[in-house]
Amino acid sequence: MSAKSVIFTGLRQATRPGCLMALLLVCGLHNRVRAQGWKSGQGSPVHDSDRLYPIGTKSIVLENDRLSLTFDQSTGALTGFINKDTGWRWQTKPNLGESFNLFAPTPDRSYNPVLGARNRLASFDKSTDGRTLTLVWSNLESEYQGRLDITLRGVVHLDGDSARFEMTVENHSPHTIASLSWPIIGSLAEPQAVMKLSTWNYGSLSVMPLWNPASQSAGYYGTDYPTRILDGRFVLASTSTQGLYVGAHNADAEENVKYMFEVKPGFEISYGNRNPQTSTISGHPVRLTMQVVHYPFLNSGESGPLAPIVLAPYRGDWHAGVDVYKRWLATWFHPLPMPAWATQIHAWQQLQINSSEDDLRTKYVDLPARVADDPKHGITVLQLVGWNRGGQDRDNPTCDTDPRLGTAAQLKDAIARMENMGIHVVLFAKYAWADTSTDWYKTELYKHMATDPYGDIYTWAGYRYQTPEQLAGINPRNLATACSNDAAWRKILAGEFQKVIDLGADGVLFDEAQHRHSSDYNLCFNPNHGHHVPATIWSGDIKLANMYRTMIRNTVGEKNFLFSGEEPEDVLEEAYSLSYLRIEPGHTPEERYVFPFRPMMIAVTGFDDREMINHALMYRYILSYEPFNFKGDIKDFPLTVDYGQRVDALRKRYKDYLWDAEFRDTLQAKVRVRGAKYSDYSVFVRKDGRRAVVVTNTKWDEPIRATVVLDAMANRLLFCATPERPDAVPCGATVTIPPRSVIVLMEH
Ligand SMILES: [Zn+2]
Repeated sequence: MSAKSVIFTGLRQATRPGCLMALLLVCGLHNRVRAQGWKSGQGSPVHDSDRLYPIGTKSIVLENDRLSLTFDQSTGALTGFINKDTGWRWQTKPNLGESFNLFAPTPDRSYNPVLGARNRLASFDKSTDGRTLTLVWSNLESEYQGRLDITLRGVVHLDGDSARFEMTVENHSPHTIASLSWPIIGSLAEPQAVMKLSTWNYGSLSVMPLWNPASQSAGYYGTDYPTRILDGRFVLASTSTQGLYVGAHNADAEENVKYMFEVKPGFEISYGNRNPQTSTISGHPVRLTMQVVHYPFLNSGESGPLAPIVLAPYRGDWHAGVDVYKRWLATWFHPLPMPAWATQIHAWQQLQINSSEDDLRTKYVDLPARVADDPKHGITVLQLVGWNRGGQDRDNPTCDTDPRLGTAAQLKDAIARMENMGIHVVLFAKYAWADTSTDWYKTELYKHMATDPYGDIYTWAGYRYQTPEQLAGINPRNLATACSNDAAWRKILAGEFQKVIDLGADGVLFDEAQHRHSSDYNLCFNPNHGHHVPATIWSGDIKLANMYRTMIRNTVGEKNFLFSGEEPEDVLEEAYSLSYLRIEPGHTPEERYVFPFRPMMIAVTGFDDREMINHALMYRYILSYEPFNFKGDIKDFPLTVDYGQRVDALRKRYKDYLWDAEFRDTLQAKVRVRGAKYSDYSVFVRKDGRRAVVVTNTKWDEPIRATVVLDAMANRLLFCATPERPDAVPCGATVTIPPRSVIVLMEH
């Protein structure tokens, strides 16, 4: 069906219902009448599930040559959303369209919704160029508090293949606006569609079914329907050939945004969580809704903008969806300076010398001996962990040395000696939490922790080390979530960080640079911290990273000191020059694809860890050797180190193909094994356009014969090399790869 006919059909459905539509509308009308008498939350949730908007007969169409968005002129509901390139409808049915939802909790009713279904547009205005639509709702009818003096001014702007939704909220009601969902896609996909949902997670993409099975993340007991709520900069809803990018484009992170998916009315079969396959079940409309949920926490009398939301349909796989994010990133992302060595091919060792359970493994003076072999294996950086008072994950955020391991002068001397041996020392530090077991915490630090709306500190149970007592969870050191928007807390951290600089280290690795966020600890409501109540911790973390950067700039200099972190996400990544992460089977190199040249490092812990190292080669990750879970010596796992050295030697030899070339993941080439699509490969593109394809065989026991087909083949000769046979030899496009091995094919 052509794009034009799709739109024509859509308009016809809205104005002159066909036979099928008439049935649907009668059904809808029936549900509407039945549901409108009930307030949201009252009686059975069937009334909310069945509730349809009083969609009128007039529409407002916003379109360009790529997109067509249709809004109901009466309610402002989004009734149509079409990718004209593919004809795909991202809002499946006009009668299931929705506008917004809002929650304004009162002291005695946290569930205090304002439904878009009850509110009509106060006005709308379409710009003369037809690309911008302003929708205004005001004096909102709420479910339980009558009319509220709240004005929502939404602006939808088309820009090529993207639709940007921006909203300004004026809150003159007596209540706080805790959450506000807009836009809402009232019916994202037909029940039968096989679709996936993906989101950024720890340098990778988490992928889950959009519908079923188990399309829920929130506990069943707490929701009315199967519900999934995701965070992250963006989500992708996709078929195998196209998708929809939904992202929050607020680089200041002043507001958190989440993505909520609800299956209404519920699963057809709860044994295995299968959704209904029909458009109604027992008279209830079947639909999957997506709400972009803002958490503005605009208090009474406050006004402000919400995070801009971009909806962009795309053709292709996840790379095309992530390209939307890359384009936005290019408008504001500017990585800060770093030492030159961090950008080169090199390897690290991570070593923990004391845990929170006082194993006191190595004194400072003995450190150089433990890493003496590193340089001859190409290991030029040591990430030193547990050097601080109390050991790893204890006494946070202290950067004092531990007298049981030696003096600060001894550590400084050991660092200097290791630097002389050719080893850069990067000190592990953790500034995200405070250890609640210390006197420091009980007398001072608790004041600077993030508190929930009830004034209680967001805490969690901490980490467990070595002893059966701690592994059983009897004595872990609990961790409280620090509020990085509290200037007094940042001042404490500045004092601690200065100690790291004073020790003469070559850098710091801020562990769990953003872990609070994945623990749902995103906001601080403490009224004594000098920030808006509440404030996002994300925005504070940007301030914190910039503070550290300023300190480095003003002392040792950014080119002499690496500021790095454990997998900081996008808005923090500008300041953190290197990401440390761990990968596992199923890893999708989303972050590597977004940042082709960013220093990223993965843990290598196995005693013959070829597969992990092959993935490092494939995805351009730096190796971090960590025998005995980063407590051992490099000589403990010679098989791993030997293979890692061969891979790094190969990377150095063909640096122009494997390091200085742009990572394209699986784009620009296809690989087939036994005639079937094969996915364990990656493509690098050199500055002159010549490509390398890295193909791995993850099978343990048999070779594979892989055929590589490069897009737009220029009939260049192919050369092959492997870590074991590094001299490149001419080869065809079909190669045999032994078990547990990797091969690099290069265009001559
Ligand atoms: Zn705070």
